[in-house]
Amino acid sequence: MTTDPSPGPEGAGAILTVDLDAVAANYRLLKEKAAPAECAAVVKADAYGLGAAEVAPALWAAGARRFFVAHPEEGLRLRDAVPEASIGVLNGLTPGCEEVYRRHRLLPVLNHPGEIERWRNAASAAGAPLPAYIHLDTGMNRLGLGPEETDRLAGSQDLLDGIEVLAWMSHLVSAEDPEAPVNKAQRRRFGEALARLPEAKASLANSSGIFLGPGFHFDIARPGCALYGINPTPDGPNPMATTVRLDGRILQVRSIDRPSTVGYGATRQVAPGAKIATIAVGYADGYQRRLSDVGRVWLGDHPAPVVGRVSMDLMTVDVTGLPDSVAHAGAMAEIMGPRRTPDEVAEDAGTIGYEILTSLGRRYARRYVGARSSTEMRAP
Ligand SMILES: *Cc1c(COP(=O)(O)O)cnc(C)c1O
Repeated sequence: MTTDPSPGPEGAGAILTVDLDAVAANYRLLKEKAAPAECAAVVKADAYGLGAAEVAPALWAAGARRFFVAHPEEGLRLRDAVPEASIGVLNGLTPGCEEVYRRHRLLPVLNHPGEIERWRNAASAAGAPLPAYIHLDTGMNRLGLGPEETDRLAGSQDLLDGIEVLAWMSHLVSAEDPEAPVNKAQRRRFGEALARLPEAKASLANSSGIFLGPGFHFDIARPGCALYGINPTPDGPNPMATTVRLDGRILQVRSIDRPSTVGYGATRQVAPGAKIATIAVGYADGYQRRLSDVGRVWLGDHPAPVVGRVSMDLMTVDVTGLPDSVAHAGAMAEIMGPRRTPDEVAEDAGTIGYEILTSLGRRYARRYVGARSSTEMRAP
């Protein structure tokens, strides 16, 4: 029996290139900025879509030792990538999974009194102290101990028997806005809580929090987005290096010879003389439908606006007047990269760079360059 040969990475509609040296350089910059605090690395959501299995070893090589994921499953996969790393689980202690956390050295971020109690019981059953982070909510109203729960803990510290507190932690609401009064209010609440709780390390700053200044650094910073090139200081220039590049394949270039429209819904008129290039990337690949008629890609040194609706597998761009050398079937268009950063794509789409990166599709061929990675392409 013969099997059909796979088309391989060359058959993919787009190639996503992840620059691990850029990720490592971003880590080093954040570490320097946060020093003398320790700089952890948040690699939840598959390292914000870039691929934790490749990104985490590059971060480890750059000096990161403490990592955070959201789900225990992410922690288990990360354990294979960085066997010696400290791995914190931000979403907490999943009920019934105490033994899994213990066996795989996953460190829960205990987010409410029930989780603290379960971890205390697990420690008692194990006959040994168990390490954990404890999250204090200082204004997000999302996860963590509320003010009354924090008071109760401060008043009865035996509730922590058997728990080795790795760090008290809290999370900033508006760190990317240095003028927001809530930043200082959260820092004050956090400091007041720390003063009443048993001595341990403290951790407050996300990527943007690092740029709020040393008063926000405490002992451990927890950057995520800035590692991947998203601007942590959106009011100013981006200090971070671009880490991703997405090149989409032009499948066809059509010359328009009569007044007509392009794409679903006939939303966009095109005049005779126009040239439309169809690219093999659509909303199923994370190029959001909201980018219809507002997105922009680059062909060589030429910008080309998205025209008409982005469809599931395809998008159409206006290449009228562009040279055939860049606008021909088989050529690649830069959909994201140094000239169209995730932040810019996000602005076009009315969202944030985080969502653009974490929506990166599964159908791209992926190529990792830099660090000690192979440059071989991986089929989707
Ligand atoms: C996601 C997350 C981070 C990282 O935030 P960035 O803004 O991406 O730097 C840090 N801490 C917590 C609790 C998080 O959920």
